[in-house]
Amino acid sequence: MKDRRAELDETILRFARERKWGKYHGPKNLAMAMVKEAAEIVEIFQWLTPAQAKNLTAAQRAHLAEELADTYIYLKKIGDHFGIDLTEASLAKMKKNALKYPAALNRGRIHKR
Ligand SMILES: [Mg+2]
Repeated sequence: MKDRRAELDETILRFARERKWGKYHGPKNLAMAMVKEAAEIVEIFQWLTPAQAKNLTAAQRAHLAEELADTYIYLKKIGDHFGIDLTEASLAKMKKNALKYPAALNRGRIHKR
């Protein structure tokens, strides 16, 4: 079976290529589009109570999946433009975060010391 990540990468590239949208997909436009899609995630939670936000309806959850995907696709395209692998960059950042926020000093605390 084909690797799903490779399939996604290829699908994202093909989608823009078939539509000749490459000229519109510079990093500035992609960053703006990514933030717009991230705002659509926020919109799902807007006006919900904290309890409602933790227990989305099936329709809200499906909508959330779509907006997360839209946001991820633009993040991926921004990374691609600069030769940044999102998985590798995220793993590297998590290593930095672990050093910045050692578990022993930050357990149960979200504010910086
Ligand atoms: Mg969207």
